[in-house]
This record gives sequence, structure tokens and C-alpha cells, in this order.
Amino acid sequence: MIIFGSTGSIGINALKLAALKNIKISALACGENIKLLNEQIQIFKPKFVAIKNAKDKHLVKHDKVFVGQMGLEEILQTCEDDFLLNAIVGFAGLKSTIKAKELGKKIALANKESLVVAGNFLKGAKIIPVDSEHSALKFLLEGKKNIKKLYITASGGAFRRSKIKDLKSVTPKDALKHPNWTMGTKITIDSATMVNKLFEIIEAYHLYDFKNIDALIEPKSIVHAMCEFKNGATTAYFSKADMKLAISEAIFSSHQTKILEAINFVKLSSLKFYPISTRKYPVFKLKEAFLKEPNLGVVINAANEVGVRNFLDYKSGFLDISHTIFRALDHFGVPKISSIEEVFEYDYKTREYLKGV
Ligand code: NDP
Repeated sequence: MIIFGSTGSIGINALKLAALKNIKISALACGENIKLLNEQIQIFKPKFVAIKNAKDKHLVKHDKVFVGQMGLEEILQTCEDDFLLNAIVGFAGLKSTIKAKELGKKIALANKESLVVAGNFLKGAKIIPVDSEHSALKFLLEGKKNIKKLYITASGGAFRRSKIKDLKSVTPKDALKHPNWTMGTKITIDSATMVNKLFEIIEAYHLYDFKNIDALIEPKSIVHAMCEFKNGATTAYFSKADMKLAISEAIFSSHQTKILEAINFVKLSSLKFYPISTRKYPVFKLKEAFLKEPNLGVVINAANEVGVRNFLDYKSGFLDISHTIFRALDHFGVPKISSIEEVFEYDYKTREYLKGV
């Protein structure tokens, strides 16, 4: 297996699972955490490695170090392994997904931003979802017909219990306290704003070609998805809030080994579902427009990345993340995109526009 984003939350979990199952790791790639990469090199002995910046190359304890985006693509080209786990965060992961598709590799896709911004151009790619909700949907949908509606669940993020008036003054430290999941920084902020769920709705649409899909808050994060049938029956997928299960489903294929303790239903005192308040999570207002016009994804994603970065750098507030997204959408409207190159152009234009406002 090739793992891009090996030093992140998904990458680390995937390597733990790979060690458990003696899966050979042919390549590893990361951004800037060279210390952890070196530890991973020592344990997994990959043939190739890639890092983000040339300045760090001399620090990497390996004789085949590739650099930057070109480096990631060279690894995909050179390495015969046909299975990529793409766990790079953000728009930076897109080119690797595209290249892996061109090369016909299987892609365990954690980098949901690839589908959010360019799902229309990834049709035909051999994608296996890594997101827990989409892994759950895959299982619920297998061999099923007469589906009326799909649901994915949200935890509500760090501020589920906070008052709307208090969100003005929350800090990155507050936003990074996710109640149920341990994840990377960006996705934890995306959970607090509900951008993550908006993205997952579009991700589900691209993966399963189904638009009647909604999200509900389920505060315990033990129900990940539900499938409602035309006859009134509904099935649900339960598991503990631990990404190892979804990652193992993506990389080993189904249900072979015990990965998690199953849910003890007798100990489960209650199970509640709530609608997502668009007063509290304004970006969720975009759900219907986004499903109608998936090309909005590139503008929403770029603006979100800018908003999250500024918030984490204490340059703007938490509520400015959604303001930034709405401002960019007001400016660009629905992008006309007919090629993958235009996705990159719109990403660039959105970031440039936001520098000036
Ligand atoms: P992290 O921030 O923990 O990890 C991101 C990884 O990407 C790190 O290894 C980082 O390297 C690497 N990276 C960043 N930029 C580059 C670059 N330009 N080139 C090469 N590598 C780069 O994120 P997560 O693991 O939480 O998330 C990864 C992806 O998976 C995201 O798209 C997220 O939405 C998705 N996802 C995550 C889930 C989770 O539970 N964490 C659940 C479902 C989906 P370094 O740290 O060395 O700089």
C-alpha cells in the first residue's frame, strides 16, 4: 500500500492496521513532520518517500526522497503498488487522486476535498471511501433497491452545546475540543462549523449517485448512516466512534478481523437524533444549492480553507469562517467548470479574491 498523509490522524491509524495485518508499505508521504516520518521509515521500510518541502530533504533518513506535488506524482508513476490511501488534508490532496485515477490505481480516499471540488471529474475512479459515514453507507447500500432517502450523522462538533451568542468569541483551542472523535486540526474545525457534513453530503452524492440525502445530529456518534426504504423500513449502521473500523474496511475489505468492540446495546441509555440548526451552523443552508450545483464545491472549499487558516492563526473569528464562504459565493456565483484545469483556476481565483477583502 502507498500512504500519502502518513503522519496525520488517518495515516497513523492506517499504519497501525497495516502493522497488525503485515501489509507491505511501498511508499510513504507527508508534509512537514519529518521526525515522525523517519520513525515510520524505520518501522515500515518503504521503497519511496515524499515530503512537501525541498528544504527538509536532508533530514529524511531514506535514499529515495521525492519532493512536492511532482514528487507525489512520481511516486505514483514509479511505484508498482496499485493501492493508494490518500490521507492528505485539503485541496493539496487533489492532484494525487487525479493521478492515481489516471494510472488505474485503487484509491482509499480519506481526502474528501477531492470529491468536494472535483467529483464530476473523478467518475470511473476506483474509489473506496474512508469516511466512516460513507463506509457505513457502502455497507447499507450493498445489493439494496427501493431506497427512498439516505441519512448521515453529525456529532455537532465542539459547540453543539454552546449558545449561538457565545460563538463570536470562541478560540481555536475551544473549537479543537471535539466531543467524540480524535482527528486532524482542519477536519475538527470543519466539524464545529458543519462544513464537514456539508462536504460529506456531496461526497455521498458523488460516491452513490443519490441526491435525496440529509444529515442529522446524533451526539454519541455511534450511528453513522441510515438508509430509508420506500416501504417505510430503515436500516442503520452502528459502531464505536473510532476511525480504525472504516479505515480497515477500506484497506482490507470486509469484516475479516475484530477491529473494535461492538456496541453494547443494553448499556446504551438513550439514542437521540436532532435536525441541524442552520442558525447555529449557517453553512448547512448551502446543502440544497450544493446538491443542485456541485461546481460550487471548489469555491466553498477554497474559501473554507482560507477561513479555517485565518481562524487557526488568530487572524479572524470562528464565525468569519462561514462569512468567508458566503462572501466568496456571492462574488463567484455558480462557477462554470468544464475541465479539471478550471477547478484549479477557480481554487486559485477564490483564494486571490479573498486576499483582497
Ligand atoms: P491531519 O491534519 O491529521 O493529517 C494530514 C496529513 O496530510 C499529514 O500527514 C500531513 O503531513 C499531510 N500533508 C499536508 N499537506 C501535505 C502536502 N502538501 N503534501 C504531502 N502531505 C501533506 O488530517 P487527517 O488525517 O485528520 O485528515 C486527512 C484527510 O482525511 C482529510 O481530508 C480529512 O477530511 C479526511 N478524514 C479524516 C478523518 C479523521 O478521522 N481524521 C475522518 C474522515 C476523513 P504533516 O503532518 O507531516 O505536515
